[in-house]
Amino acid sequence: MTYDAIIIGAGHNGLVTAAYLARSGWKVLVLERREILGGCCITEEVWPGFQVSTASYVNSLLRPEIIRDLDLKSHGFEMLPRSPSSFTPFPDGRSLLMGPDKDLTRREVAKFSVKDADALPRYEEMLLRVADFLEPLLDQTPPNLFGGMRDLWKLGRLGMKFRGLGAATATEAIEILTGAATPILDRWFESDELKATIATDAVIGAFAPPSHPGTAYVLFHHVMGECNGVRGVWGYVRGGMGMISSSIASAARKEGAEIRTNAEVANIIVKNGRVSGVALKDGSEFTAKRVASCADANVTFLKLMNARDLPSEFVTAVKRIDYSSATVKINVAVSEPPRFTALPTPGVGPQHHGTMHICPSMDYIERAYDDAKYGKPATNPMIECTMATALDQTIAPPGQHILSMFVQYAPYTLKGTTWDVEKERFADRCFDILNNYAPNFKASVLHRQVIPPPDMERLWGITGGNIMQGSMSLSNVFNLRPVPGFADYRTPVRGLYLCGAAAHPGGGVMGAAGRNAAREMLRDRR
Ligand SMILES: Cc1cc2nc3c(=O)[nH]c(=O)nc-3n(C[C@H](O)[C@H](O)[C@H](O)COP(=O)(O)OP(=O)(O)OC[C@H]3O[C@@H](n4cnc5c(N)ncnc54)[C@H](O)[C@@H]3O)c2cc1C
Repeated sequence: MTYDAIIIGAGHNGLVTAAYLARSGWKVLVLERREILGGCCITEEVWPGFQVSTASYVNSLLRPEIIRDLDLKSHGFEMLPRSPSSFTPFPDGRSLLMGPDKDLTRREVAKFSVKDADALPRYEEMLLRVADFLEPLLDQTPPNLFGGMRDLWKLGRLGMKFRGLGAATATEAIEILTGAATPILDRWFESDELKATIATDAVIGAFAPPSHPGTAYVLFHHVMGECNGVRGVWGYVRGGMGMISSSIASAARKEGAEIRTNAEVANIIVKNGRVSGVALKDGSEFTAKRVASCADANVTFLKLMNARDLPSEFVTAVKRIDYSSATVKINVAVSEPPRFTALPTPGVGPQHHGTMHICPSMDYIERAYDDAKYGKPATNPMIECTMATALDQTIAPPGQHILSMFVQYAPYTLKGTTWDVEKERFADRCFDILNNYAPNFKASVLHRQVIPPPDMERLWGITGGNIMQGSMSLSNVFNLRPVPGFADYRTPVRGLYLCGAAAHPGGGVMGAAGRNAAREMLRDRR
């Protein structure tokens, strides 16, 4: 069967590419290896009655243009904004609530430092100033560092726009783009409790502590985005994260795209330097002049292709991509919300609406990283808990809840042992820690699912269990993503494109890579 384009992988990005191409009248086929659509943006009924966002769990980054263009709301997409958005209990019995309610945040931060309560709005304004420059870049194709006049022109325009920020904001922007989170937070704030809460965003998903250069950008990556038009706010998706993918799939199907599951691509077929189609594991073949892969660069180029179809320096560059992972996901069904000693209100309270951080100090994060750096899961890991059922009762049986624990740091390869041996023990340790803050927790557990990095790789096809399809370090973002010279979604093989998080602007449920790739594919046909 012949198509205008084949998309490998029904991650949300692949589905976005399919929807935009089909909207332009292309005959599109999406091939997904799993039985379920969405890649790392899925909802699965892990236990009867519990609709679990098994991988990603909160949204803000999904581009508003995609929601609008594909009319996702008419396909079932609905955001539930979180307010408060964060709660941090401390061992001394105090706690910190923060969120879009400015008065509440001010009061709460002032419990720890009045000076910090004054500084926080100015810090957020600084981030927004930098965001005004950076956010539009998410929707652009990065200029090729080694390209022709058009790329030079784009680079020049970018430089002019950067100059337009003025010296002060430009300096802040450079520090955000290249620096470590700790010195920035140290300059702005004095309260360790506030810094530790904010720093969690700087390290989430990264195999780096906040003192490492590059983490300030990770922090920033998490403050871009919006929820129902309100900037910087994160929310849950009614019905779970899978509703993002299923609404995009529904929009793509409405435009005529064909989507197949249980269809694992074994080979990308290349003839005379041009892509000509794909072969599935079951032996069937499909032809198309254009193929876009939503799988990561390692899978696409080193597993699905023959190295002789690619330039050797390109293969070397792909092998250099950093896929180190830092996280374990633990999904838990509970009979009641955790009752925190620091804020023991009965039932669901404001402390359960947002992310509940078990991360009492900056040193705590650094020490957790130290363990992982030497090849062992952190003895005292940073734990980010969310309970989407606080706002969405459709995903669990009445009165029961789903607790998502995103735990860091935990390396892919353990020294002297394996994750098969360690994973339940590690989960027990995490449960003990949470129980110290919320003594009803362990007794409330009904079911649990523990997913360490090798299981993430096996389940979701992400190399090394890296949640971003490759680290978001400075050497691997913007026009260096996935590798220098190929940030425009094209690859060395004519007709073959990347359309997932492996390409600019990288990881997160954004859809931007999928939309940008579709734009470039359409441009090539013109
Ligand atoms: C545990 C975890 C938690 C996260 N939390 C968040 C969060 O809360 N918020 C957020 O914004 N982001 C989060 N992320 C990151 C975010 O989910 C991903 O960056 C994003 O979903 C990537 O989407 P994608 O479409 O580019 O690729 P993927 O979701 O990786 O999709 C790629 C698809 O390709 C398929 N595939 C691979 N090989 C083949 C093949 N040979 N044949 C056919 N199909 C193939 C895979 O099965 C998969 O469906 C999280 C990620 C993980 C893993």
